[in-house]
Amino acid sequence: MVPSGKRAAVSSENRRQQPQDERSQRDSTEEALKSVLLEDLPIKRLSHKNITIEGYSRAAFQTYWRIPEFRLGFDLGGQPWAFMGTPSWFVSHTHIDHVVALPAYVSRRRMMKMEPPTIYLPEQAVPLVEKLLHVVGRLDRGRLPCQLVPAAPGQEFELSRELVVTTVPTQHTVPSLGFIVWERRKKLKPEFHGLPGEKIRDLRLSGVEVTNEIRLPRVAYLGDTRVDVLDEYPDLYRAEVLIMEVTFLSPHHRGEKIRKFGHVHIDDLVARRDRFQNELIIASHFSIRYTPRLIEKLARKAIPDMLGGRLLLWL
Ligand SMILES: [Zn+2]
Ligand SMILES: [Zn+2]
Repeated sequence: MVPSGKRAAVSSENRRQQPQDERSQRDSTEEALKSVLLEDLPIKRLSHKNITIEGYSRAAFQTYWRIPEFRLGFDLGGQPWAFMGTPSWFVSHTHIDHVVALPAYVSRRRMMKMEPPTIYLPEQAVPLVEKLLHVVGRLDRGRLPCQLVPAAPGQEFELSRELVVTTVPTQHTVPSLGFIVWERRKKLKPEFHGLPGEKIRDLRLSGVEVTNEIRLPRVAYLGDTRVDVLDEYPDLYRAEVLIMEVTFLSPHHRGEKIRKFGHVHIDDLVARRDRFQNELIIASHFSIRYTPRLIEKLARKAIPDMLGGRLLLWL
């Protein structure tokens, strides 16, 4: 929550610039806030093709990601000020470090006069999150408008003409989901290859379906989970970018306990090293038992070539 002093800064800014240009009003409000919010949550960024992956994740601490170009994010374990403009969020599960910022996110969007967001989350969590919002709303004496969408494994959510998100069941200690973001593209059917452009246009105008829809798995996101989901849903191995948790790296933290608590060990990646077709595999959500230096060391020891440079440690 933004303290009341900061709220005052927002509303006086709002009064000064009346609504003729909502965007420039928002920009200048954000500028004003930047001078107030000296310290925000850390964000690491990476560009890949035409998308940017932004976020930060450490186990038991905080997890938040977004792809601004797709206008969607994953997990709400923190909410950097810059992330507020992203309108759709997919929550993998309701452990505190993945969900605690949900009410603050909803409230900020309302305060900034943005559309109520849409938040997809495991269906079992929806009634309790509704209660949570109700209680926080009463404590804050403010409305928390948002759409909570119950999600189950195997579902498909259409975000736009180009983007579809599907769900996979992950294995953790509370109900949990992973997500795959697919980009839909039209591709000319093979029988029309080589035809001149006007001919194709004429066919299309005469009502012939000249294209097929193809789907590209652009980004896959796995919150906390046992590694088995990768083998059960091989699309995850095909996503251009795979963002996943690798909570444990030390040889001392191995075996049944990790499986029981629903987490991934770097050795799980070693065992599957030939299956990853991803262009980029982002390993994150490292246990806070490890320092960044130790994480580097243990990862490079386990996978010296870092999967041909495709494995990236999000530190
Ligand atoms: Zn976690
Ligand atoms: Zn968890």
